[in-house]
Amino acid sequence: MNKKKTQEKKRKTQSDYIPKFMEWGIITERNFKGMDTYDIPIKRWDPLSTVSIKSKDFGLREEHRRLYGHYAYISPIRGKRPKGFKAQDKKSELLDCSEQILSKTKDVFMSITEGRVIYDTDEHPIGDGYTIIICEDNKRRDNPFSSFPHKIQKVPENTKALTLINRYPAMARIIEKDVMETIEESLPSHLRLARGINLVTISRNFYPSMCFNLVPEEVLAGIFISMKESILYCIQEAIQRDYYDIPVSPFFNIGMKVGGSQPRLHGQIYIDLSMDGHGSRLEGFLEAFKQMGDTCHLCKTSHQNSDRIIKKSEYWTFYTTGSPVRNYHIRFHPNEHIRRFSQLNINQISDLAHNLKIIFQALDDIEVDKNRNIIFNCCPFHYDANFHFFGDIIPHEVIGGAEMADDMRVARKLPHLTAKEIRKAIK
Ligand SMILES: [Zn+2]
Repeated sequence: MNKKKTQEKKRKTQSDYIPKFMEWGIITERNFKGMDTYDIPIKRWDPLSTVSIKSKDFGLREEHRRLYGHYAYISPIRGKRPKGFKAQDKKSELLDCSEQILSKTKDVFMSITEGRVIYDTDEHPIGDGYTIIICEDNKRRDNPFSSFPHKIQKVPENTKALTLINRYPAMARIIEKDVMETIEESLPSHLRLARGINLVTISRNFYPSMCFNLVPEEVLAGIFISMKESILYCIQEAIQRDYYDIPVSPFFNIGMKVGGSQPRLHGQIYIDLSMDGHGSRLEGFLEAFKQMGDTCHLCKTSHQNSDRIIKKSEYWTFYTTGSPVRNYHIRFHPNEHIRRFSQLNINQISDLAHNLKIIFQALDDIEVDKNRNIIFNCCPFHYDANFHFFGDIIPHEVIGGAEMADDMRVARKLPHLTAKEIRKAIK
């Protein structure tokens, strides 16, 4: 294609849509007009639990002060995102995992995947179809720092997954220079602008997230593959823009009760570009692996003979953790000592999809709450740290009271007995 044509095509796709304040994490002079400083997404470190990291510990650069502790992202725009569930959905069809609901259900992502606006039964449009797409399966599309949402063509049916910039993120991705100066001047010194990239990876075709048994293994693997490639693409582009020491958190919120605002199966990734440290949980993991040195707890053979093992395959080990944060809290790790989600190879990814489906089915069979989180714990990019990448499956449970006060939880089931129960359900 010649240059002129390319430019023309670019103009056409670099759309007519002007992002409203903070949509896709974009803050411009134009959309910031009339906004208050407190409308920006904020990252706030809790002064009562935050301390400096001795940066030499993990090979961090000395220029910035780094912290670890408890922090919160506060992003007013997240309250404005569309609700993917209607009141009547809660109990009814999205929990009924029968094949018919696949053809019936329409959601906001359909206006993106179908390349045209989709209408609900009352003829109201569901979403407008504008998006910024990072990867289609593992094929790279828009630049992770693009500020041009656009409509895409109908995505081929054989595509497994798409990774998009989250339209209603917790962090700002692009901030025009002048606005940045205004924000820096007016923001109190104990607050900071939350910067980063929030991604959402969806299946191309609709699968309800609560019905893991309906999701084909290759689609689940496709979601992981698209997440992996998108992380690599974002990090590569972030480095070119002088970002470094980057925590990356991939996770799944499955079900409304655990934060899943959309009925379609989707993974998410938080890429924090604030360059100011990491949370206490990660600090605990980093320090623990540091102390283990060459005798990694997850690589050790004694652990592999434990009666808490649920399933062990060529590539993965699943077990109930001895210190559960909820009943049926399951931990899993690749048998290979790798540090990050983005280092998973195709065999590990396919095998993970295969085994997760089996485990989820077993949990369904023993009637564990279908609202579940999957959290992937990764070593941040550029940290010089020993780390064995691992995941947590945490089913929803109503808890409360003082049992949540410290980094402490109270569970009622013995982990080795839960493991036995799940093992039995698998067979
Ligand atoms: Zn290890």
